[in-house]
Amino acid sequence: MSLEGKTAVITGASRGIGAAVARMLHERGVNLGLASRSGDDLGLENVVALPCDVRDLDALTRLCDATAERFGGIDIVVPNAGVGAYGSFLDLSLEHLDEMLDVNLKGTVYAIRAALPHMLGREGDVVTLASEAGRRGLPYEAVYCASKFGQVGLTRALDHELREHGIRCTNVCPGGVATDFALEEGRGRTPDVLPGMMTAEDVAEVVVFVLERPRRFRILETALRPMTEQSWG
Ligand code: NAP
Repeated sequence: MSLEGKTAVITGASRGIGAAVARMLHERGVNLGLASRSGDDLGLENVVALPCDVRDLDALTRLCDATAERFGGIDIVVPNAGVGAYGSFLDLSLEHLDEMLDVNLKGTVYAIRAALPHMLGREGDVVTLASEAGRRGLPYEAVYCASKFGQVGLTRALDHELREHGIRCTNVCPGGVATDFALEEGRGRTPDVLPGMMTAEDVAEVVVFVLERPRRFRILETALRPMTEQSWG
């Protein structure tokens, strides 16, 4: 199915997986609304990009309203903005604990809340960037897992509510992806773990695959893992 002329809102679009999804959709002629705190437009045309913290529903609403006004509506929302901090449960700082729940889970709820009014009445897609950590409890990732299980539950539940509106809901659940994710000092990931992980483009191709399927069916969940990782399954 061609995506040309559709309009997509992507959160966390300034780098990593969100930026790769934005670039691939742009190549396919999709108009874009891009949210990140930096407000980066990736140097692309046909883009509405605003500095936008996904913890702020008003900011997301401004971005979605401006995107819908410029392009006539919204067809696709990709809640992707996310943060991580790994370590033992009691050692996790309250700042990182709150940030993961607020950005990953509430930020996803808010992104869909802000985009959905502009999607009703057109066939559309919600594609949530969750994680393998949203499918299994993983050691030293308890709060990250909680935020990701929340995203998965939200998107699975919305599938029931939105199917009658012709809106498909999908969780994309990658394992390790070599991006800036959790590399900041004190978040528990170091650059030596990146070789052998998937690339942001690998994941973006899966998002595009999901979106390009014929509208007679929907993909509820995809699980992808690098060959270097066990499946815990
Ligand atoms: P990344 O490279 O660190 O990029 C994160 C993006 O989120 C950036 O564009 C960042 O932009 C944005 N962001 C962070 N906090 C934000 C906030 N409060 N408001 C708005 N935007 C915010 O991470 P990534 O690897 O691409 O991760 C993207 C998603 O995939 C996340 O949900 C992550 O949990 C999930 N995931 C990642 C991996 C992995 O191994 N990398 C695996 C599975 C799932 P600004 O800093 O400009 O705001």
